[in-house]
Amino acid sequence: MKYYDVIVIGGGHAGCEAANAAATLGARTAMITLDQNKIGAMSCNPAIGGLAKGQMVKEVDALGGVMGRITDLSTIQFRRLNSSKGPAVRSSRAQCDKKLYAENMQSLLKSLPGLEIIEGEVSGLIIENNDLGIKQVLGVKISSTEYTGEIRAKSVVITSGTFLRAIMHRGKEQEEGGRLGDKSSKTLSEDLKILGLSLRRLKTGTPPRLHKDSIDWTVTTPQPGDEVLLPFSFYHGADVYPALPQVNCYLTYTNQTTHDIIEKNIGLSAMYSGAITGIGPRYCPSIEDKISRFKDKDRHQLFLEPEGLDVDEIYVNGISTSLPIEVQEEFVHSIPGLEKAVFIRYAYAVEYDSVDARQLKGTLECKDVPGLFFAGQVNGTSGYEEAAGQGIIAGINAAHYTLGLPEFILSRHEGYIGVMIDDLILKGSDEPYRMFTSRAEYRLLLREDNADLRLSPRAIQVGMLGDREKNIFDIKFSKIEKLKSEISSFYFYPTLATNVLFTGLGLTEIKDRISAEALLRRPEVNFSILAKLGFVTDEINFSVLEQVEIQIKYNGYIEKDLQLLEGVRNAELMKIPTSFDYKIVPGLSNEIKSKLLETRPENIGQASRISGVTPAAVANLMIFIKNKHINRIEQIKS
Ligand SMILES: Cc1cc2nc3c(=O)[nH]c(=O)nc-3n(C[C@H](O)[C@H](O)[C@H](O)COP(=O)(O)OP(=O)(O)OC[C@H]3O[C@@H](n4cnc5c(N)ncnc54)[C@H](O)[C@@H]3O)c2cc1C
Repeated sequence: MKYYDVIVIGGGHAGCEAANAAATLGARTAMITLDQNKIGAMSCNPAIGGLAKGQMVKEVDALGGVMGRITDLSTIQFRRLNSSKGPAVRSSRAQCDKKLYAENMQSLLKSLPGLEIIEGEVSGLIIENNDLGIKQVLGVKISSTEYTGEIRAKSVVITSGTFLRAIMHRGKEQEEGGRLGDKSSKTLSEDLKILGLSLRRLKTGTPPRLHKDSIDWTVTTPQPGDEVLLPFSFYHGADVYPALPQVNCYLTYTNQTTHDIIEKNIGLSAMYSGAITGIGPRYCPSIEDKISRFKDKDRHQLFLEPEGLDVDEIYVNGISTSLPIEVQEEFVHSIPGLEKAVFIRYAYAVEYDSVDARQLKGTLECKDVPGLFFAGQVNGTSGYEEAAGQGIIAGINAAHYTLGLPEFILSRHEGYIGVMIDDLILKGSDEPYRMFTSRAEYRLLLREDNADLRLSPRAIQVGMLGDREKNIFDIKFSKIEKLKSEISSFYFYPTLATNVLFTGLGLTEIKDRISAEALLRRPEVNFSILAKLGFVTDEINFSVLEQVEIQIKYNGYIEKDLQLLEGVRNAELMKIPTSFDYKIVPGLSNEIKSKLLETRPENIGQASRISGVTPAAVANLMIFIKNKHINRIEQIKS
C-alpha cells in the first residue's frame, strides 16, 4: 500500500499551493487530481490579482507560495489598479496566458522532490475511530487507471473546488461535471457527511468564449496595460519579468436591446427557473442578475480579454450566464463589436457542495477530525487568489501536523489571508466569499507593497523560504533602513537658490531648514522631486523607494493602527480550548453560550468577533479564563 505524510486532493489553485507548501516543508506529499493536464487550470477568467486579491497573491509569494511567480512567467498584460490612490488600496492585476500558466505550474510542481502527482478520483476517505473514540481520516480511497485501492496518509487536505456533486447548468440542460470537460466528484461528499460535517450548495458561473477573428475590434475601446510592469514575486520575478509580449484588452458595452433579450428570456435561465438551488456570488453576478438588480442602468461594461498569445479564445468578462445557447447567441450578437461573434464555448453555471467553514480552525483543520484540512472553493470562497491563500495555510499546517510542529496561523492584522480565514471560520459563508479591501480593519498595514516585510520572516522561520530568499529579504530590508537614515539626515536650507528651486517645482518656500524626510511627508513630494531639489541617493530600486515613501508619508496613521492593535494582539494570545465548556461560565446568557458553543472560538479575539457576543460577555469570559488558569490555555508568542 502507498503511504504519504500528506495527501492533497485536487490540483486547482488551492491544491497547488497546499502541495507545494507541504513538499517544501519536507512532508512526503501526494497530489491526487482528476486530470493532471489540468493542474493549475484557470476555470474562469484569465487573470490573477485585482483589488484586494493582488494583496493576497503577494502574501502567498511572501510566504513562499507559487502563484506569484507562475503569474510573472505567464503575464500578457499588467495593471496596477488604484495606482493614483492611497497605498492601502493599490492592487496588482495580471492578465495571463491561461495555457502557459497551467503549463508553468505543472512543470514547477513536477520538479519538487517531495511531491508525487497521481491522476485519479478520490472516491472516499478511510475513516476510523481512534483510541479516544474520535473519528480520524487515515487516507483516501482512489480509483485511477494506474491504481485502485487505498492510499494512506497522516493528513489529508481537500481542495475539491467546484467538483463535489457538481452539476453544470445551461437553460434546461444539465450535465454532471465540475468544469466543462471534467467530471464530477460524486461520492466524496457522502464521506464528509459520515464525518458529521455540514455541507451546503453553492453556485458560480462563467461567460462565453468567442473567436478573436469574429470580433469587430474597430468599434471597441482598447485597454492597454501599464507602461511600468511590476512583478508579483518578491523573490523570483525580477530576472525573468516580463517574460512574454504584452497585449491589450478591449472594452464594449451591453445596450437596451441586450437587456430586452435577457429580460424576455429570463425564465429560461437555470438560475431563474429554479433549476439551480445553490447561492451564487453576489459580487460576481451573472448578466441576468445585473439586469434584474440594476434596472436603472442602461448599459453594463464588458471587457474582452485574450486568453493567451497563441489562442483564439476571447473571454467576455461581465456576461456570465446560465441562459440557453440560442439566447446567448441572440444577446451577445446585440453587443457592439460582437454582432458576428463565433462562440468557441458557451457560458454555463455550476452548482456544487461546499463545507461550512465554521467547522474549521485557523489552520483550516477540521475541529472534530484531526488531520483533515480543507482549502479553497470547497470552503465557500470564490476566486483563484482566495483559493491559493487558503491552500498555502492548509499545506503548511498539514505538513506541521504530520511532522509534530506547531500550528501556523495568520491573524487578521498580519494579512488578508488571515482576514479571510478568520471571516470564514467565524461567520461561514452563505454565498461565495470574495475578498475586498473593506473586509480588513487594518488595511493600511496590509498593503501589497509590504507583504514581504509582514510575512517573509515567518516563512523563513518555518522553512518555506530558503537561504536565497532570506538573502534577498535581508538586502531589501537593509536598503530600506539605509535610505530612511539618509533622508532623515539630509537637510534643505532656506537659501535663495533653494527657494527658487522649490517655487519652480510648485512647492511653497521654506523659512527654516527642513529634512528630506519631513519634506517627503508632504503629499505633493516624492523621491523624484527630492532628487530635483538636490537629495542624492544611489538607491534606484522601485520597491525600496516606494516602501520608504509610504512608511514616511503614512507614519502617523500606521502608528495609530499599531497602537490599536496592541489590545487585539493580547486578546488573540488568550487561547480557549475547542472543548471548552461555556456552560460553566457564570453570567453568560443562554443565547451567547449557544453562539460560542456553535462556533467554538480558539481565542478571546475570535470570541469577540462572533456576531451577538457582547463586549460584556467577552470580558466575563476573559476574567473566568484568567482566574481559573485553565490547563490547556497557552500564551502564544506573537
Ligand atoms: C464555471 C466556473 C465559473 C467560475 N467563475 C468564477 C468567477 O467568476 N470568478 C472567480 O473568481 N472564480 C470563478 N470560478 C472559480 C475559480 O475557478 C475557483 O475559485 C478556483 O479555481 C478555486 O480553486 P480551487 O483550488 O479551490 O478549486 P478548483 O480550481 O476547482 O480545483 C479543484 C481540483 O480538485 C480536483 N478534484 C475535485 N474532486 C476530486 C476528487 N474526488 N479526486 C481527485 N481530484 C478531485 C479537480 O480535478 C481540480 O483539480 C469559477 C469556476 C467555475 C468552474
